[in-house]
Amino acid sequence: MKLAARIGKVTPSLTLAIDEKAKAMKAEGIDICSFSAGEPDFDTPAHIKAAAKQALDAGKTKYGPAAGEMKLREAIARKLQTENSLDYKAENIIVTNGGKHSLYNLMMVLLEPGDEVIIPAPYWLSYPEMVTLAGGVSVIVPTDAKSNYKITPEQLRAACTPKTRLFVINSPSNPTGMVYTPEELKALAEVVVEKDILVVSDEIYEKIIYDGAKQVSIGSFGAEIFARTIVSNGFAKAYSMTGWRVGYLAGPKEIIKATITLQSHSTSNVCTFAQYGALAALESSQDCVEEMRQAFAERRKVVLDWLNRIPGLTCPIPEGAFYVFPNISKTGMKSLQFCDALLEKGVAAVPGIAFGSDDCIRLSYATDMATIEKGMARLEIFVKSLI
Ligand code: GLU
Repeated sequence: MKLAARIGKVTPSLTLAIDEKAKAMKAEGIDICSFSAGEPDFDTPAHIKAAAKQALDAGKTKYGPAAGEMKLREAIARKLQTENSLDYKAENIIVTNGGKHSLYNLMMVLLEPGDEVIIPAPYWLSYPEMVTLAGGVSVIVPTDAKSNYKITPEQLRAACTPKTRLFVINSPSNPTGMVYTPEELKALAEVVVEKDILVVSDEIYEKIIYDGAKQVSIGSFGAEIFARTIVSNGFAKAYSMTGWRVGYLAGPKEIIKATITLQSHSTSNVCTFAQYGALAALESSQDCVEEMRQAFAERRKVVLDWLNRIPGLTCPIPEGAFYVFPNISKTGMKSLQFCDALLEKGVAAVPGIAFGSDDCIRLSYATDMATIEKGMARLEIFVKSLI
């Protein structure tokens, strides 16, 4: 069967594939500790589910505006104004089928063939694939543990060419968990303005931060950077709503308008009653977010203590998200081989090569403590057998 060339240029998402595999193995009764997908194990908070059920009963079952329910767009704009110091109105917001879809939409409306997108590595694996699908070219800028996996302003400046259209920043980061400081973001913002490019800030992990780290949006450092910033976010991680598929993109009116046009011919509105769940998430008490964050903080401590005890693995301390990204090079294995062998021992992890770093693996600790303890014990025995 002859398929379009564009789909031949990308590979299926490895995070989703490994997660599906681990879930299928568990369903078959195989004893697997899964550190694969970045998916909180908590149920969606009851008041959010109740709001969606109420919306269903109230007949919110019809087509809605392609841009999203106006009430939700307004609530998102208010959240961005008050929490993130970003002066958006409802017209600057589009509700999308998850954060992933907001980024895909953006690439589709921004990129001309050959336009370059600067992506610091390690990166979330879908960024480069979305760029490719939109006909753009990813310019990967490697970073390492010495710089806490953060791109420097000098690196960003050096990566810019006349073809650069967009810079992708993700803080807290998937897969490394690193959080850029306000000073670091300000310095990067200056380069974005100087080079007159756009930046998309993926803030999906903004609520999951530790040790007093400060979450700041790169768009908040003045009018010049604000005009060049697009923010991607969603409800999946903060409110444990992964399966609901509700996210959003915020940015300059022209970009959002174009994205609404695209969405009006592709997905139309996001599931109407799911949007009412998202509205309740924003407008109700945020205690549930803090409760989950505290649980992640406890798990993170256990995972980091364990990693420190395993000789041969090194890992900078992540300040956000729910991932650790240890370096496994002392085992003599590359990431795919390591993860395949580890799976045989009953632990699912994602090979770093998927994120542009073959010497590392990603472990998600968005899982219960019993699984963490059992899985880390297995990892320790496995690594000790190699070194
Ligand atoms: N973003 C999560 C992860 O990296 C969920 C899976 C995906 O969409 O990639 O594990």
